[in-house]
Amino acid sequence: RPPMPRPDRTRVMVVANQKGGVGKTTTTVNVAAALAQLGQRVLVVDLDPQGNASTALGVEHRRGVPSTYDAVVDGVPLAEVTTECPDIPGLWVVPATIDLAGAEIELVSVVARENRLNKAIQGHPWVGGADDVGEERYDFVLVDCPPSLGLLTLNALVAGAEMMIPIQAEYYALEGLGQLLETVEMVRAHLNPRLSVSTILVTMYDARTRLASGVADEVREHFGDQVLKTTIPRSVRVSEAPSYGQTVMTYDPGSPGALCYLEAAREIASKGAPDR
Ligand code: ADP
Ligand code: MG
Repeated sequence: RPPMPRPDRTRVMVVANQKGGVGKTTTTVNVAAALAQLGQRVLVVDLDPQGNASTALGVEHRRGVPSTYDAVVDGVPLAEVTTECPDIPGLWVVPATIDLAGAEIELVSVVARENRLNKAIQGHPWVGGADDVGEERYDFVLVDCPPSLGLLTLNALVAGAEMMIPIQAEYYALEGLGQLLETVEMVRAHLNPRLSVSTILVTMYDARTRLASGVADEVREHFGDQVLKTTIPRSVRVSEAPSYGQTVMTYDPGSPGALCYLEAAREIASKGAPDR
């Protein structure tokens, strides 16, 4: 596959939506794998105690494995808890263990509790601009958030310059988005002025239903250019892949789901980081 040009500096992208089951994890791992296939160097940070992104990327995440928890709660350098994805060259992972479930509460009494993940990511020797980091730099850091607006997601929003919101093409798709966008505004006003909602991706799109196209139209009306042209179809291959410890990009690269995720990744890479 022809590689895409690399960005001048690491793009930190947060995949968030406080609703569960909308495709955050599926989008994180498949966009990450697709970006890696396009010649980008990508780090996935699993910030959900369930560790589903770790599973899909074939990375061990039982208790005791060096993980996001160690970096965020104990301040262990991120590079020390990062492992290479076994199947996908150019892709690295910080796994999440179930310990992370306690972090929401443990962080409450910690100094600068919203800034822990940001500090960890910015302290990684491969995060930064081409001038200071060089060829080894990560082009993308993708953060897979848990389905809540607690301290973990807040840490992600403070750490990221870009936010990607997956929206499921279903009834009530837009419900709860108001609350999410209010949180973004609050973070922008008080904690991270660089944050922008750069990317909206419509997932689990079923072309046979009028409902799905209605939802997609409504999302485009609301968000305009932020919405990727590519939508991700509902596909059994996409949902099967994690049970083999794989992304659909390796499990069935020719399937419609894989091809659409590749196209979505191409759009993200070619659009570039938003202007500040
Ligand atoms: P979240 O991380 O937002 O909770 P997931 O990515 O885990 O959501 O997706 C929820 C469920 O939907 C999972 O079982 C996943 O396999 C399935 N799923 C996600 N995207 C698709 C798709 N395009 N086609 C079919 N199933 C999907
Ligand atoms: Mg998830």
